[in-house]
Amino acid sequence: MKNKKLVMIPGPTPVARSIQDQMGRETVAFGDPAFIEDFKEVIKDLKEIFKTSGEAFVVAGTGTLAMEMGIANVAKEGDNVLVVSNGFFGDRYKELCERKGLNVDVISAEWGTTVTPEEIDNKLKEKVYKAVTVTHVDTSTGVCAPVAEIGEVVKKYEDTVLIVDGVCATAAEPEYLDEMGIDVLITGSQKALGVPPGLALVFAGKKALERRKSLGTIRDYYVDFEKWIPIMNDPSKYFGTPPVNLIWALKEALKIIKEEGVENRYERHRKVARAMQAALEELGFKILAEKEHRAVTLSNVLYMDGIEDAEFRKVLAEEGVVVAGGLGPYAGKMFRLGHMGNIDSHYLVSTIAAIERTLYRLGKTDVIGKGVSTLMKGLME
Ligand code: PMP
Repeated sequence: MKNKKLVMIPGPTPVARSIQDQMGRETVAFGDPAFIEDFKEVIKDLKEIFKTSGEAFVVAGTGTLAMEMGIANVAKEGDNVLVVSNGFFGDRYKELCERKGLNVDVISAEWGTTVTPEEIDNKLKEKVYKAVTVTHVDTSTGVCAPVAEIGEVVKKYEDTVLIVDGVCATAAEPEYLDEMGIDVLITGSQKALGVPPGLALVFAGKKALERRKSLGTIRDYYVDFEKWIPIMNDPSKYFGTPPVNLIWALKEALKIIKEEGVENRYERHRKVARAMQAALEELGFKILAEKEHRAVTLSNVLYMDGIEDAEFRKVLAEEGVVVAGGLGPYAGKMFRLGHMGNIDSHYLVSTIAAIERTLYRLGKTDVIGKGVSTLMKGLME
């Protein structure tokens, strides 16, 4: 009999049964009165959970579309923007902004570390930047940027809008727009929210909405805030067809988040990450990210000598756990393990146990159970 395969990649994450069930419901007309009510509730909940007095947008697309939407509404061709890059997805924002004809400056951190708020402050003193982009958790490195402190810095600059890429952080790391000086938060459905892939979510605070107004007609069409604001405030209106089942799935995901309590959810992610990272280190692996900047959503785990990436991940999959490979310079040198969203201790214990069985099969350990023991102690503290 084959093991069930746990999807422990950094998104899509395991989808809870009740969320999955929403995907199988009979699709209704987007003008269906009950669906309109559901959509309204989703928007209201999103604004409350992520604390914005501005707007929330939910459109069909992925995180990359949300990145486009974030920048397209706050900067126009020729504007200066500052991209803060802690890895692959920061670099993606650079490329995306350059394609839009923006004047892009970049501050990069060595992979595994983060750009500091002081470095950003110093850069912002040099010239007027219309926007700064920061990746909250760069999935390529497992580094979490100090977004609250960066928010404090960017707030001082009246002409600068702070865009936070929360794709690998939202619903696992605190992100409160009004309180943290985040002007635009962009994210996707498939990671810590625990919804299948296919939704781009964008939040815009007052400063960002004023900026959008000041730009007049923008080049981008599908991602234009002005096109979507009437729909998000009254989903009986039409601009683009809403992905009905995914919006139901998101509604169920938000119900789960509210039941857990958002602060409890953040705390759970912290505890799980610390326990999992301690267990991985106990097994002899190294984590790429510096300890003080480690993400709670995933671990970027460096192989010890003599482990071959493809073989490790193949054996691990046979043992029932799917993880992702490294990106960029770390391709072949690490695996990326997601531990975010709606996962309980069954997923976590099974995952570390499968990793131990894999090391055993590869002849890298003859003691089994050290990782499971460390993980369980961490989870029960
Ligand atoms: N930003 C970050 C931090 C991500 O992790 C990802 C996806 N891994 C993206 C953006 C792009 O999202 P998508 O793959 O949904 O387009």
